[in-house]
Amino acid sequence: MIPAAFYYVRASTLNQAIDLLRDDPDETKLLAGGHTLLPALKLRLASPALLIDIGGLAELKGIAISKTGVRIGALTTHAELFASEPLNKELPVFRQAASLIADPQVRNRGTIGGSLANADPAADWPGVVVALQAEIEIAGPNGLRRVAARDFFVDIFSTVLEPNEILASIHIPRPKAGTRFLYRKIRHPASGFAVVGIAVGVRLQQGVVAEISVGVTGAANHAFVGHRAADFLTGKMLSRENIDQAAKLLSETTECLSDRYASAEYRANLIRIETTRALLALSS
Ligand SMILES: Cc1cc2nc3c(=O)[nH]c(=O)nc-3n(C[C@H](O)[C@H](O)[C@H](O)COP(=O)(O)OP(=O)(O)OC[C@H]3O[C@@H](n4cnc5c(N)ncnc54)[C@H](O)[C@@H]3O)c2cc1C
Repeated sequence: MIPAAFYYVRASTLNQAIDLLRDDPDETKLLAGGHTLLPALKLRLASPALLIDIGGLAELKGIAISKTGVRIGALTTHAELFASEPLNKELPVFRQAASLIADPQVRNRGTIGGSLANADPAADWPGVVVALQAEIEIAGPNGLRRVAARDFFVDIFSTVLEPNEILASIHIPRPKAGTRFLYRKIRHPASGFAVVGIAVGVRLQQGVVAEISVGVTGAANHAFVGHRAADFLTGKMLSRENIDQAAKLLSETTECLSDRYASAEYRANLIRIETTRALLALSS
């Protein structure tokens, strides 16, 4: 439980962090909340030569709400996302999802940027940002670039981030009036991570689905968009029969993960059940 030796630098600007990262990106790790990285160092699952602490970078902090949407700095903690009144007035799904993450200790230190960059297949925020149709802003030696959240996650613990890049912020377009979001998950009983998590955003017009987005986490190698359920429901009533059919289609979409906690068949069934529950809750 003792990490290998490493150099430690606390960056004071984003540019300094990018410069430091440029020197030897493969042997360097960024430290945000530390609630994933520090256990990995102690278990020697990671042994970087240099640790860049980005925890003090003002550029990566804060929640800003504008007419076009919401910008969340990468260093915003789960607890801050839970507590922000302006954010939760716009998008109450943040409070709801944050309340389901782990325990108060983890929520007080863990950051949304750290969670997304780490791309644990069982993390909660990936499913939520996919359903919110967010964009991830990435800072690197060539400046800033943006990637749709649905294209950000590549595989287990793998994203489109290059080793010399830093996840800077998350941008969520303002949803159309009347859009409601819900995140549901089946928690792993020990860690609280999602065995399966389903995030749904839906806008109804006279009971008919005008727009819908679905994000799935926990079930597969990485979070993904529930296209088949959304395509099936668009233009239809959110009736019990249609909900059942959409949930079934979604559960058949992907090759689910299988581990000692949950088989692939069990996870597929949880996709069906949690999608049904989320859509039923949003139908009334
Ligand atoms: C007991 C326990 C229970 C947990 N339960 C849950 C849960 O129920 N749901 C859930 O979603 N999560 C859960 N987590 C994970 C928790 O949310 C982590 O805090 C989070 O995944 C990582 O955020 P962090 O800020 O701590 O990142 P760190 O640990 O600092 O970093 C994690 C990784 O991301 C990289 N990184 C961090 N920030 C950036 C950035 N801005 N740009 C590029 N790379 C970056 C780091 O280099 C590192 O590789 C749990 C963790 C613990 C310890």
